[in-house]
Amino acid sequence: MQTTLMIYDGTAPADSDVPRTGGVPLAPAGFTWPMCGCGGPLQFFAHLPVEDGVLSVFVCQNDPGACEFWDATSSANRVHLFPREEELQPVAVPETGVTLLPATSAIRNHVVTLDPEEIDDHDEDDDLAPDPYDLARSGWKREPEERFGKQREVLGSLGGSPSYLEDDRLPACPSCTRPMEFAAHLEEGISAETAMNLGGQLGYVFVCRPCREGAFLTD
Ligand SMILES: [Zn+2]
Ligand SMILES: [Zn+2]
Repeated sequence: MQTTLMIYDGTAPADSDVPRTGGVPLAPAGFTWPMCGCGGPLQFFAHLPVEDGVLSVFVCQNDPGACEFWDATSSANRVHLFPREEELQPVAVPETGVTLLPATSAIRNHVVTLDPEEIDDHDEDDDLAPDPYDLARSGWKREPEERFGKQREVLGSLGGSPSYLEDDRLPACPSCTRPMEFAAHLEEGISAETAMNLGGQLGYVFVCRPCREGAFLTD
């Protein structure tokens, strides 16, 4: 079984078309910055190029905890899947509100192959089988000889299955109400100063490919 970890790879230009957290979103012409029900703009979290376009992830941080960003139908989180057919360009940033992260962090993908036995090897009495993302993340080391990996270098993972989330808990698409597809995990980030505030939780990116939209939820 393989897991594609997303690893911190230094800084990147704010408007670059590379996998990154932070910086400025790239979107088709005419796209306007998404707003939350609280009246403030959402904060831009991540630009994730995927096979059929770019996933663009937003979450409200104007008053952390006040807006229901764990609810897929809430206006406090937003995911867009922008197709590549149209040119993607930097979006105009609203002048007020919490909109940008303090740093732009480049992401490189790192494929981890997990031993299926390691996943199966758990106590039968324990209902919770080891989770592929958890195993891959906890095993992360930049150099094989490192004694301990710096787990904060893991910014999340792309594809695969959602960590400790049953299939029947997949959120419904806000537009067509069909279950959405899991697309990525996002961790808060490399350092407290530049990270997204997720209340210490893991974030989940879901997408409805036909509707080209999705949700960003924390557990
Ligand atoms: Zn809000
Ligand atoms: Zn849909």
